[in-house]
Amino acid sequence: MVDIILLGGPGAGKGTQGELMETWLDLPRVSSGDLFRYNLSQQTELGQQAKGYMDRGELVPDEITIGMVAERIARPDCANGVVFDGFPRTVGQAAALDALLAGMGRAVNVVLNIAVSEDVLLQRLAGRWTCSSCGAIYHRLFSQEKVEGVCDACGGGLMQREDDNLATQQRRIRVYQEQTAPLDAYYRQRGVLVDIDGEQSPEQVGRLIRAAIEAVLP
Ligand code: ADP
Ligand code: ADP
Ligand code: ZN
Repeated sequence: MVDIILLGGPGAGKGTQGELMETWLDLPRVSSGDLFRYNLSQQTELGQQAKGYMDRGELVPDEITIGMVAERIARPDCANGVVFDGFPRTVGQAAALDALLAGMGRAVNVVLNIAVSEDVLLQRLAGRWTCSSCGAIYHRLFSQEKVEGVCDACGGGLMQREDDNLATQQRRIRVYQEQTAPLDAYYRQRGVLVDIDGEQSPEQVGRLIRAAIEAVLP
């Protein structure tokens, strides 16, 4: 049983690495961003509540976000652990996650702090394309699909996220620095934080992550 958090700015590579980890750890990846986008596509009430914040590049309020994630991790597939991607993003969310996991006799085992400079974050977000059907992540320069515009994994069409425009990207980076970066100290104090140099190739970042997790696995 292992609960892992992927921490890092927008574009740091959380989703890319989380997808790989899902396979080799055989654990579900719980991405709060993906859950919000799913709710948007289904036009649920939660999706309507989240939309304005997402469009502006701001965080959705904690009570909405925490409720959504709590419901997700109560499902049976999360019983053996979770790879959290993009959650928690505030100290309030981190405290809520501690309480949720404690209620299941669990605790956060490792937090992977993927460090990437602001310039590189912007470069990555600018070229990000995502599969509209399976969510696989590509990059125009760094991680191209084999056939242009077509997902290697499922044949779905690739699209750019609506919030990947320059103004929103810059806003998200600022919001990360103000509201999410403090989680670094929160988890470091507890001795579960591992710094990962996120400016390597995806393969190399994957190797660093794997070594960090193998060091804490029972
Ligand atoms: P990125 O991968 O670029 O960091 P995400 O897909 O994680 O972006 O998030 C997209 C948007 O969804 C965020 O800008 C925010 O509005 C909302 N969101 C995602 N996760 C959270 C969270 N844990 N708390 C609040 N808002 C969130
Ligand atoms: P996050 O989930 O943290 O917002 P993503 O995993 O969506 O980040 O990655 C953002 C963009 O950067 C995507 O286009 C992805 O293909 C690309 N990318 C991810 N990791 C790397 C890497 N190590 N080197 C170069 N590009 C990367
Ligand atoms: Zn796909």
